Amino acid sequence: MDKPFIYADCAATVPVTERALAAAEPYFRERFGNASSIHTQGMGAARALLDARKRVAALLGAEVSEIYFTSGGTEADNWALRGGAALGAVDGRRHIVTTNAEHPAVLRCCEALAREGYEVTYLPVNSEGFVTPEQVADALRSDTALVSVMYANNEIGTLSPVHEIAQVCRSRGVLFHTDAVQAAGHEPIDLGSLGADMLSLSGHKLGAMKGVGALYIRKGIELPPLICGGGQERGRRSGTENIPAVISLAEALAESLEGLEDKNARLLEQRERLTDGLLSIPGSRLNGSLERRLAGNVNVSFEGIESESLLIMLDMRGICASGGSACSSYTNAPSHVLTAIGTPESFIKGSLRLSFGILSDVEVEYIIAEVAAAVEKLRRERFGA
Ligand SMILES: *Cc1c(COP(=O)(O)O)cnc(C)c1O
Repeated sequence: MDKPFIYADCAATVPVTERALAAAEPYFRERFGNASSIHTQGMGAARALLDARKRVAALLGAEVSEIYFTSGGTEADNWALRGGAALGAVDGRRHIVTTNAEHPAVLRCCEALAREGYEVTYLPVNSEGFVTPEQVADALRSDTALVSVMYANNEIGTLSPVHEIAQVCRSRGVLFHTDAVQAAGHEPIDLGSLGADMLSLSGHKLGAMKGVGALYIRKGIELPPLICGGGQERGRRSGTENIPAVISLAEALAESLEGLEDKNARLLEQRERLTDGLLSIPGSRLNGSLERRLAGNVNVSFEGIESESLLIMLDMRGICASGGSACSSYTNAPSHVLTAIGTPESFIKGSLRLSFGILSDVEVEYIIAEVAAAVEKLRRERFGA
């Protein structure tokens, strides 16, 4: 196989789909109106916005009034946490429960809340990367305002038992938020049966534009705004709506859910072949759970190598992959997720995350062969053999 272009970093971002781009395109120029304007252009934008909101709500099993558009997953997470914390503080509840494997958008926000007088419990995930409903139940106190547990982990793809955790929270009268940025468009989500009070998702992880996302807020929860201003999004999230982005989100979400079962069945086959192939490399180890994970995620570590060198070599061979998460590549610290699941010291810096869409058989074999060759080369160089 000649040098190909294989994109296996879908957990970082994916391109805007043709359909999402086509749906959004008219709203950049011909239909550029501000949804708050009274004239025809404005009303057209307002109609498009409502239509997108209806679609997203229907696709998630929510009501139209429960969907709020944001600037992305990070904002949705911050809003849910800060809003939930503020609601608790109204009657003196200032305790928050989350996990030690959350995305930085949740962890850094919790740290900020701790500096502002909240108390945060970080539940330790098990070796597969999730916390149990029992752990959550045991952590709840009379002053717990909010629980936030991610739906699917962005590094190791672990799926949390969010339905059961939601039930625990509901029965104890505590708000439950889940960061579903990695799950939306990849796992079927039905908010009617999930039982979460708030759920975050992001456009660019599922084929829509960057800089758009949504927060589901269950009807009846008076979440205070994070951003104040002109009163858009029913007074809850101000700022002129990004109509093309919101339309791309609705279209991409619809598209990603079409034939989802078949797509995931194919991804699962690929995941198994990639996992088997990579684990046949000596000194390798699977990070996370064998079964309880996103169909399009493989994360393995290789003893005695640095993932950065591996990624550069793979890139030169036409494979885009990642070490852990794009969000932590600014810092040189070992992944907090791999630390949380107890990855041994000698494996922690040599992680490789492949997050992929449908690949051909040839591509799967190419990835395995190239990773094996690169790992061997790096070890040879390192040990000067
Ligand atoms: C990417 C990601 C986010 C942040 O979403 P943005 O839209 O990039 O701000 C939050 N949580 C998880 C799990 C993610 O993977």
